[in-house]
Amino acid sequence: MKLTDFQALGIRRELADVLQQNGIHTPTPVQKQVIPAALAGRDVLAQAQTGTGKTLAFILPIIEALSDLRSSTQALILAPTRELAIQITDEMKKLAPAAGATVLAVYGGQDVEKQVRQLRNAPAVIVATPGRLLDHLRRQTVHIRGIRTLVLDEADQMLHMGFLPEVQAIIEQTPDDRQTLLFSATLSDAVRRLAAAYTKDAADIRIQGKTV
Ligand code: ADP
Ligand code: MG
Repeated sequence: MKLTDFQALGIRRELADVLQQNGIHTPTPVQKQVIPAALAGRDVLAQAQTGTGKTLAFILPIIEALSDLRSSTQALILAPTRELAIQITDEMKKLAPAAGATVLAVYGGQDVEKQVRQLRNAPAVIVATPGRLLDHLRRQTVHIRGIRTLVLDEADQMLHMGFLPEVQAIIEQTPDDRQTLLFSATLSDAVRRLAAAYTKDAADIRIQGKTV
């Protein structure tokens, strides 16, 4: 049987099928480069314009790597705004059932006590804005010492919004041997410094132009 283009990148059949059902048949350039590198366990620094499909580029390898033998949080995705956190969570939820995984969005403006209860179940993946996640770390109501993958999405925007101190404080509480995937529409000096500080031997992926 013919492999789909996503399967050829290392994505399992069930996930590729869900993608097909959602009208997604062919990987974008950033997905083609990021997915194999991330599946191989490498850190990634990826720069591509808005609308080039960066979200699936990190969602798919994370879901592939999730282990249902673990009852702790395995991946943490940081995003600058609640809208983006919700969007990433929604996209992930379409695919996560195929992997039996739980995904939780954590952002400001939501009832903290409700989040505390949801966090007690140690979702496999947490998608969070930096400020609210740091609140939970200080209350010790979230546990990220066991994560394997950290994603910094829209890193340029996150820095532009002044989240560097929060992002640093959060990363300090993740394991040193984590995998780090950093995505940005632009590569400012500040983004490069962030990548230099928190990625190791990252695959350096730059995509020119708009391609979805
Ligand atoms: P970015 O994060 O780079 O700004 P998104 O990940 O938000 O871009 O993707 C932009 C849009 O493209 C979304 O609507 C998404 O569903 C769609 N998309 C992503 N990957 C593909 C693909 N391989 N084929 C078709 N559409 C895609
Ligand atoms: Mg994006």
